[in-house]
Amino acid sequence: MPELPEVEITVRRLDAALSEARVESALAPGMNVMKTFEPALEALAGRTITGLRRIGKMPVVEFGDLALLIHLMSAGRIRVFDKRAGSKDRASRVLVRLENGRELRLREFGTKQRAWAKLLPTDDVANDEAVARLGPEAWPAPPLEHFAELIDQPRHLHPLLRHQGDIAGIGRSWVDEILWEAKLSPFKQGSELSEKEVERLHTALHVLGDAIEHYETEIGEQLPDKIPMPLKVHKREGAPCPRCGTTIEAVYFSEHQTNYCPKEQTDGRVLKDRRLSRLLK
Ligand SMILES: [Zn+2]
Repeated sequence: MPELPEVEITVRRLDAALSEARVESALAPGMNVMKTFEPALEALAGRTITGLRRIGKMPVVEFGDLALLIHLMSAGRIRVFDKRAGSKDRASRVLVRLENGRELRLREFGTKQRAWAKLLPTDDVANDEAVARLGPEAWPAPPLEHFAELIDQPRHLHPLLRHQGDIAGIGRSWVDEILWEAKLSPFKQGSELSEKEVERLHTALHVLGDAIEHYETEIGEQLPDKIPMPLKVHKREGAPCPRCGTTIEAVYFSEHQTNYCPKEQTDGRVLKDRRLSRLLK
């Protein structure tokens, strides 16, 4: 799933490519993708794209006083194409047809239809329930004092950092990188952290900014479908830790996994595999 750095580079590239592009028509081939009905997508015809930006993990496409707020969920992607999607393109969810045959396309891969979009007055975006419930952006990092308050909860760091209502932009990939950078266990609770550990975790958020810088140099004008992420520990089980050489371990959950360096993050302990322990019950 695209997280803060991937969505950031996506909106930067699309903003550069689409600024002032005129909309010919807009439609939603994806059933149930539009969560709003008024104004209708047709209201975009004749408008120009005035900018793209990001809120948490959500791209926002602005057309003057109307904005399309998009939630990519796990398999949604937005890209611009030089040609229009064929009517049989099953991945198409929202198509914004532009002048010169170009098309801004929200697509979703896989069988599930979860990605959604809302067409709203631009002024109402901040008050939309999906936006209003978000915590502060993870990058640039909130002030240390504010971060210390929001992390002071009796919950494991792994779900806590991914909970968009507490801090926005971090998902299953970057949470592993941030915790590894901070040398903290994913199963340590936020309220258990010492002052030093909170500082370390706060500082570790720079990996998000580093990733954006990496993408700025690595990704050209054309966005690939799958942005190659510069991950050091996530999904690297069995590989040596890039810092100390210890074998990276994994804990598997039903829909995701977390990776960590046992030497540096869990005092040498290899954590129980939750998938395995459930099967053995
Ligand atoms: Zn290590």
